[in-house]
Amino acid sequence: MVRKDHYLNFFTGTCLLLVLFMLSSVQVQAQENENGPIIFDRFYNKPRGAYNIRHLLNRLSFGVSSGYGKTYYKHEFDNAAIIQKPGFQPIIFNPTSLITNDTITTAYVNWFNQVEGVGSLPINTATDYITSTDSTRIVYKSTSRGIPIVLTLHYDFLKYRIGVGMSWEYHKVKEFNPKYNTANLASFQPEIQKERFKRYFAYLGGRVWNYYDYSAVVDAQIGLYNLGVQFVDPKGIYFNLGVSVEKEFSEYFSAFVRPSIEYKRFQTSLPETALSVNHNMPSIFLNVGVQMNLPELRKCKISNCETQINHTHGGGKEWRSRSHPFYKKQNPHYGENYPRLYKYKWLKKNKLNPY
Ligand SMILES: [Zn+2]
Repeated sequence: MVRKDHYLNFFTGTCLLLVLFMLSSVQVQAQENENGPIIFDRFYNKPRGAYNIRHLLNRLSFGVSSGYGKTYYKHEFDNAAIIQKPGFQPIIFNPTSLITNDTITTAYVNWFNQVEGVGSLPINTATDYITSTDSTRIVYKSTSRGIPIVLTLHYDFLKYRIGVGMSWEYHKVKEFNPKYNTANLASFQPEIQKERFKRYFAYLGGRVWNYYDYSAVVDAQIGLYNLGVQFVDPKGIYFNLGVSVEKEFSEYFSAFVRPSIEYKRFQTSLPETALSVNHNMPSIFLNVGVQMNLPELRKCKISNCETQINHTHGGGKEWRSRSHPFYKKQNPHYGENYPRLYKYKWLKKNKLNPY
């Protein structure tokens, strides 16, 4: 219950912030809507623009991206002992635990995601290797992979952005290898291979660079992760910092590449002992995606209208071009539907009569 409340508070908080920013921008818009003498307005047929809900929605961007990620797992034991039987995965136990008749009362395997107890483990003194953290460091590492799918909804104001998002990561947990004492300790595959990680986050960013159609936005995700049902304690907080390099195709559509680094960790505790393991799991991601927003003007309703730019048909109401593709930039003076003549395009250019 407590966990659920945390999620709710987090979301209501972020959503409230978003609404506040949107409302404050309505006020600014209202002030910008200056009125000249009526006679000039009539003469020039000055368009009214779109000071309505669409204008507001126009500044909300929806983003979707996917890519590739690597997670560098690492954990180290403190005050623990380990036994390596030839051909088996390593088994951990509490060095102060009772050993009678060469039998360890309780030992543990699969301490990565679901700790499993092994009762009355016999020691074969001839072949088994035993050591403890008093004499050697016990550290295991794994480099695992994931494919993320990220959805964001953010609001732009000045050069900043604020929003919310969620993501799914199709994650593959790979084998763990010992960092030290590799001659005696074996690698192991935790009893988990595939899992879908989920994240909910607040999204914040600021534009730091701008060059023609290109821009760079330093942005962060701060939120909650859920590693899924195969983990005993799957929930926690994470932080992701990245740079979105964006190319604007039009005022409604842009594409971006986003390298990022992420930090999160979780803990598993071994039952009936004071032992617990801290799992660090920093990640790097490279995402590629697109961002869209709703055009602030409605599409012109006259079916044979071929105007390429925002225009009026009298009455001051402004319309969006029917023929302009949403992903193409629009020059406010003449439109840019056909920047290259048709006859110079593609295969046409080799023809005698390109039309
Ligand atoms: Zn029209």
